[in-house]
Amino acid sequence: MRLLSLFAVAASTLPLTAMAAEPYSYAQPDQVRVTHLDLDLTIDFPQRELSGQATLKLDWKNPKAPSLVLDTRDLKIASIESVSADGKTAPLNYALAPRDKALGSKLTIATPTHPTRVRIVYATSPDAAGLQWLTPAQTAGKKLPFMFSQSESINARSWVPIQDSPAIRITYDAHIKATSDVRVVMSALNDAQHPLDGDYTFDQPHPIPSYLLAIAAGDIAAEATGPRSAVYAEPSMVHKAAHEFEDTEKMIATAERLYGPYRWGRYDLIVLPPSFPFGGMENANMTFATPTIVVGDKSLASVISHELAHSWSGNLVTNATWRDGWLNEGFTTYVQGRITEAVYGKSLADEEALLSARALEKSIGSMPANAQKLTPDLRGVDADDALSDVAYDKGSWFLRTLEQRFGRADFDAYLRSYFDHFAFQSITTEQMLAYMKPNLIDKYPGKMRWAEVQDWVYGSGIPKDAPLPDSPRFDAIDTERAAFLADKLTADKLDAKGWNTQEWMYFLDRLPDVTALAKIKALDDAWHLTGTPNAEIGMRWYVHAIVAGDKDVWPAAAEHMTRIGRLYLTLPLYKAFAKTPEGLAYAKQVYAKAMAGYHPLTQQAVEGILAKASPAKK
Ligand SMILES: [Zn+2]
Repeated sequence: MRLLSLFAVAASTLPLTAMAAEPYSYAQPDQVRVTHLDLDLTIDFPQRELSGQATLKLDWKNPKAPSLVLDTRDLKIASIESVSADGKTAPLNYALAPRDKALGSKLTIATPTHPTRVRIVYATSPDAAGLQWLTPAQTAGKKLPFMFSQSESINARSWVPIQDSPAIRITYDAHIKATSDVRVVMSALNDAQHPLDGDYTFDQPHPIPSYLLAIAAGDIAAEATGPRSAVYAEPSMVHKAAHEFEDTEKMIATAERLYGPYRWGRYDLIVLPPSFPFGGMENANMTFATPTIVVGDKSLASVISHELAHSWSGNLVTNATWRDGWLNEGFTTYVQGRITEAVYGKSLADEEALLSARALEKSIGSMPANAQKLTPDLRGVDADDALSDVAYDKGSWFLRTLEQRFGRADFDAYLRSYFDHFAFQSITTEQMLAYMKPNLIDKYPGKMRWAEVQDWVYGSGIPKDAPLPDSPRFDAIDTERAAFLADKLTADKLDAKGWNTQEWMYFLDRLPDVTALAKIKALDDAWHLTGTPNAEIGMRWYVHAIVAGDKDVWPAAAEHMTRIGRLYLTLPLYKAFAKTPEGLAYAKQVYAKAMAGYHPLTQQAVEGILAKASPAKK
């Protein structure tokens, strides 16, 4: 996933007792493991409901285990039965615990006979945290409703009763019914030629963690981008998106050359409506992506490099707990850079690495020591906040450091062997280290001390000698920015005509947090940043302008916040507005109009910002 982070240290609602190996699941995999899921669901748009049944195949680890414990959130359970090998069924007793705000409701099913399968008849809630239901008016085409899931980190449980822990892998198949005007896709093998008949079957033959369970349905068209890839999107978007992502096959071939075969068959991607709260989500076989990366010049295609990279780091070799999330996101951000370098050139890959490193340098000092670690203690941290920039940017920085020390050829060979060795397994940081020591660190003595590895993995902050890539273009921008701020260069004389998206991002990222209003006005007059269709540039620009007190940008900022539900691109504007009482009042008005189009996760995050900034009620 590519999000951006809000390491909410204070978001604690988690009871200490829930903190076993996996802090966010009630599952007891040492007693029994679900190995296969068979879903049979109907999509009901008017009711905003998925209903039907989930049949779970079980592998009993303890033959005397009294129960099967599952994770659920806001599910309505109608009945539960055992299914024996010959198909005979018998009702089972169960208890659904009161809802825990952080974890949902623990479902305990009494299993005196230790059946091979258990079937749960259920329906989702219209407010299911892992599903968003859009009215036709909230789509580009305005004709049909749209729905999509976002299961990572712990919201699969809001649409499937499951052991919702990344340590537990399942294969699945699904039979999904819908009205015949919508197309249904899932995180499995999809067929772009499937007729619109309202009756779909899916098969995911590889064992995946539950957070990769995904479904979407709506007015969805498809266009091929290669022999094993296609783009799905609303009809008005699909051709534009297929053009933006026409390098997909090149990216797959690059990753295969570096890290071994793509093992999943097809790699498709779906561009969702603008309310999708993330940049991209690496659902198995089908990446879910934000439309904000379809900008016409492929400049934000590295989100696709990132999600594709997860086909190795994350989906193939998976973090066993969310505390090990850097094994997914740090490795993936590194691999993303390698794909970007091969397909779009070293200059762009270096710029992206520098952007993330500089942003981390700026933010890490103000984080609590625990949050600065690749392996943070997650007690008291909400699951939605478990993955921070540290996992992505410090994790990838560590891997770039390893590459530099050991040399690209040996490090590439090592990484490929790592993916092969742990393929289709969920592993902890300690399992990764136990493999790294003999196969990299000790194999090439004198390149890196074990204590340095430990410092990267378990220490706070960024090690002093962490290497940064060179970027002459960024150096030139630093010089221009300094001259502009020192009144030695006027805004119109900045050499910005040829700046790409990343170069504008870098220029804006390193302006002072509070830039003088006159400088903001001069930049806007010269470069017309207000109203930019590029949301990465827009997000940075509006934050500077709002903080500088430029009220002229407010309507355009409001339009940006209303149009885009991607957390990373929208929350910074709410935070900037919330710094003054007048701005806060305006942000509340914007939210009142925008909220109906926001994903539940975005609503929750914005409401948190607005509440925190508002004076406490007596
Ligand atoms: Zn990711």
